[in-house]
Amino acid sequence: MIATDILEKMAESGADTSGLLTTVINALREPVLIVEKSTRIIAANSAARNVFRRGIGDIERRRLSEVIRDLDLHAAVLRSLQHANASETQLELLGTDPRNFDTSVSPLVLNDEPHAMVVFYDITRLERLERVRQEFLSNISHELRTPLTSILAFVETLEDGAIDDKDNNRHFLNVIRRNAERMNALIADILELSLIESGKVSIEKRPLRVAAIVDDIFTNLSSKSVTRGIALRNHIAADAIAIADPTRLEQMLTNLIDNAIKFNRQDGSVTVDLQAGETRTIITVADTGEGILPEHQHRIFERFFRADRSRAREVGGTGLGLAIVKHLARLHGGEVSVISRLTDGTVFSVELPAEQGVSPR
Ligand code: ADP
Repeated sequence: MIATDILEKMAESGADTSGLLTTVINALREPVLIVEKSTRIIAANSAARNVFRRGIGDIERRRLSEVIRDLDLHAAVLRSLQHANASETQLELLGTDPRNFDTSVSPLVLNDEPHAMVVFYDITRLERLERVRQEFLSNISHELRTPLTSILAFVETLEDGAIDDKDNNRHFLNVIRRNAERMNALIADILELSLIESGKVSIEKRPLRVAAIVDDIFTNLSSKSVTRGIALRNHIAADAIAIADPTRLEQMLTNLIDNAIKFNRQDGSVTVDLQAGETRTIITVADTGEGILPEHQHRIFERFFRADRSRAREVGGTGLGLAIVKHLARLHGGEVSVISRLTDGTVFSVELPAEQGVSPR
């Protein structure tokens, strides 16, 4: 540890080590504590005071165990004080603002007495990112494995003789195709999402006539809606505009309208509307479907979250559509939100910044 080396050299030459020590630890952004032989804290920098003072007032002159209740850290400090051993431990602070630290404990001689210097490196963000990454990987593996298992099982059935079963072989091939298509859709959505999240997607905004875009989406999705008797209603005035990237707006609305059809009831309806405000344009997609439980409403924009897994899989969802919509809305400087009541249906709103005095090109 560089600071301790300097201090020891200074102490040997008879310089004012405590003054230098205070300057050094106060210059550090990481929380630092200096602990004396009796394990009392004799110095702390302001970062340490901010992190550890919570609820207990001043931390100087208190015992380390009063301020931080952690056996590993306590043992590392004792090793440093008694045997001049340097070591590293991990510390997790629970509470309303949980934090994770890598801590480094180094022996330090001050006024001929053994002391320990503890530096805390905040790794909360890294830990969180690591957890998100692990969850994402395990979700992807799980999502890909389900259709793949089914494909392998049906290929085996065909190999075992079902290929000559005229009544069923087409059906088996169909199942294989559906599952392969599912994997394909999933991989396409994962790639799309990672592209958007990496910030490599640029948005080219311009004034757009939203009604025409919605008409096109309705045409593309009509076979889905017709089979379930769902009426598609476009209530947007022909000249109403929104400022957006045409491809990305279409992508957002396609995802929302597709969901509104998928999670609707037989013979229900989907209504798309637009409210033009001074600063914001709000496009709404309302359905007459089963609705979303209040406790699920803030989670549906998370990657892979599905309120009803088997239902969502049955209707062919990847669980990534709304995460993509959320990112695209934010790229536009806007936001997406949901209002839903069970059995009453759901309304998704995409809010986009508006510019005044523009007309569609
Ligand atoms: P999926 O591919 O499953 O549709 P999404 O990210 O688009 O994935 O949606 C996530 C989940 O949110 C869905 O699985 C469903 O549970 C819920 N959801 C989305 N849209 C609606 C809707 N219009 N009505 C009811 N539930 C919905």
